[in-house]
Amino acid sequence: MFRASLLYLSQATWARRLVTDWRFARRAASRFIAGDTLEEALETIRTLNDEGMFVTVDHLGENVFTAEEAISAADYYLESLPRFEESGVEASISVKITQMGLNIDFNLCLDNMRRIALRAAEFGIMVRIDIEDSPVVDLTWQIYRTLRAEGVTNVGLAIQSYLYRSEEDALALVNEGAHFRLCKGAYKEPADVAFPHKADVDANFDRLTKILIDAALVDSIVSTGKVPPVTAIATHDIKRIDFARDYAKKVGLPKGALEFQMLLGIRKGLQQSLIDEGYPVRIYVPHGTEWYPYFTRRLAERPANLWFFLSNFFRG
Ligand SMILES: Cc1cc2nc3c(=O)[nH]c(=O)nc-3n(C[C@H](O)[C@H](O)[C@H](O)COP(=O)(O)OP(=O)(O)OC[C@H]3O[C@@H](n4cnc5c(N)ncnc54)[C@H](O)[C@@H]3O)c2cc1C
Repeated sequence: MFRASLLYLSQATWARRLVTDWRFARRAASRFIAGDTLEEALETIRTLNDEGMFVTVDHLGENVFTAEEAISAADYYLESLPRFEESGVEASISVKITQMGLNIDFNLCLDNMRRIALRAAEFGIMVRIDIEDSPVVDLTWQIYRTLRAEGVTNVGLAIQSYLYRSEEDALALVNEGAHFRLCKGAYKEPADVAFPHKADVDANFDRLTKILIDAALVDSIVSTGKVPPVTAIATHDIKRIDFARDYAKKVGLPKGALEFQMLLGIRKGLQQSLIDEGYPVRIYVPHGTEWYPYFTRRLAERPANLWFFLSNFFRG
């Protein structure tokens, strides 16, 4: 109920207008967001890189309404990519295709994604397509497959363990030798497409982890600042992390090929302890002014975050 209400609010335009005007809400969101500007994101990447963490950078925004907005969102990535190198930081990037115009025109979105991927390839950077809510999953795959068929190899997808279809999708991806990021899924989904119970989502996450680790044994690329390895386990759930560690140890996957990924502002202590144990850790670093839906999804994930949000209100 709590999660469902917040996920509804994350997509409600009236709520977005209201909340983004509250200064205390922006202050609360800053726990999860590197800042409004690329300069602020670069500072955060530098700090994380200095702490031994890898980074994937996201410029916030989704479900844009005009072609101009979509083109400008793609241009932003094109302009950011050389700035990483100039600033001496390393990062891969994560992109939402509804920010690139998927809801406006498929070919516009495809062209924007192609421009980003080709420019990223010039810097040896991997582009991960975030997976959004279930109505756009098939189209996301179409964009991904079209780019791969054109020979663009530096693009990858994410897979959500809450979807029934994900096991089949994961097997298809590993059979193609492709990478994916495994996460649980952050959207409000109906029971005909997604497991309604957390225990099933978690069990599926472990099943998908096995698929990824088995694939990584064949192609055990280690993480670098610009490219995640085959096994990218995106969760803050210690039981899922323990499962991945234990299974990788059992089958002999080297630590450098088992990357854990977490969101900026969540479980910093766990991030550091995994680094200390010798695992690569990549932090998802969002920045930009369109923080409302991302922030609301983070509130939905944990009831305690709502108190954190309200405490910012009482601080004035
Ligand atoms: C790197 C990365 C990329 C992602 N990409 C996508 C994507 O492309 N598509 C998509 O749908 N989802 C994505 N997600 C979000 C993901 O699907 C989950 O919604 C989110 O990670 C919470 O689930 P969990 O695996 O941490 O497990 P949970 O069972 O939700 O949480 C486990 C524990 O982690 C901590 N925790 C989790 N969330 C929070 C929070 N918001 N605030 C504070 N503590 C928290 C708590 O201690 C909690 O008990 C991504 C997540 C990560 C880490």
